[in-house]
Parts: sequence; structure tokens; C-alpha cells
Amino acid sequence: MSQYGQATADTLAARAGYSEHQTGLAMDIGNASGTCALQACFANTPAGQWAAKNCRDYGFIIRYPAGAEATTGYTYEPWHLRYVGKNVALDMSSTETLEDYFGLEAAPDYLQ
Ligand SMILES: [Zn+2]
Repeated sequence: MSQYGQATADTLAARAGYSEHQTGLAMDIGNASGTCALQACFANTPAGQWAAKNCRDYGFIIRYPAGAEATTGYTYEPWHLRYVGKNVALDMSSTETLEDYFGLEAAPDYLQ
């Protein structure tokens, strides 16, 4: 991350201690081949397409959807799935953010 400035780095990965992965409710998925690992093009691979279509049936959402950076603070991460439970997942639209669903304020950056 040192090749990026802090502002850009913050949109690409969580700072230590702030990652949603630490909740135990998030996971990153990928293709066995490694194709498009941790890249937006993952969305266009078979695994990415399957996840987008079916993850909500298993209680997961794509936590950082495309075009929602101003709300979530993260660029599109089609590989990052967050468990919210089947009821919530199926109640959300495929492009809705967790912030919008729960009526929370946008979280585009770290509190200063
Ligand atoms: Zn992740």
C-alpha cells in the first residue's frame, strides 16, 4: 500500500483494526485458478457471477457494491461477501448498501 497515498489506500483496504473481516462475518472468495483475484473483473468470472446471483440465498451480500464508494468508503469489491442472515439479505436489493438498508450515515472515510 505504500505506493498509494493514505486517501487512496483507504478505499482499497481497511486499516489495521478496522477490517470487517475481524467481525468473523466477512470473507473474500475467488476462482480456484486465481483469475481476477481481488480485482473488479472477478465480477465477470463464473464464480463472481454465481456469487452475485446466489449469495443472498445463503444470507450473504456483496458488501461493497459498484458505485457506492461515497457510502461505503470502499471501491467495488465483488469478492467480499458479508453475512447478514438470509432474511436481511433477501430483503435488500442487489445494489443496496448495508448503510442504506439500516438507515445509517454514509461512512466514506475514517473518523478523524
Ligand atoms: Zn474482504
